[in-house]
Amino acid sequence: MWQTYSSRIMREVSVHRDITVVGLHQSVLAAAGIACFIKNENTPGLGAGMLGLVRSPIFDPVLCVVDDEKYDQAVELLRDHVTRPVEPAADWTCAACKESVPASFDACWNCQTPNPSNDAGDPGQQATES
Ligand SMILES: [Zn+2]
Repeated sequence: MWQTYSSRIMREVSVHRDITVVGLHQSVLAAAGIACFIKNENTPGLGAGMLGLVRSPIFDPVLCVVDDEKYDQAVELLRDHVTRPVEPAADWTCAACKESVPASFDACWNCQTPNPSNDAGDPGQQATES
């Protein structure tokens, strides 16, 4: 009965093997005024390694939101936080026509001018024969 009750008021928003990541998430939520705490904070390596359970999520730090009403907000915050570092490579600007070209393009989509930053790793391939 206690198990059911406690799991109802504690919503887990973040689980990560690295306590520093969970701690970072906690600070993000705390800065937004969302009460939260970390479960399993003091358990890393405590017997888990000897049992061969180091990779078990049971022993991973878990970030829980105290206020159930803030759960959705917390998830939103962490989603923003998590997705931010995954920056795509920067677009490059075509030297010939000044168009902005996505980094995944090897040549300008507009005038087919090769990406200048790709030339460095491919010397001697610029055929000048006529
Ligand atoms: Zn171009």
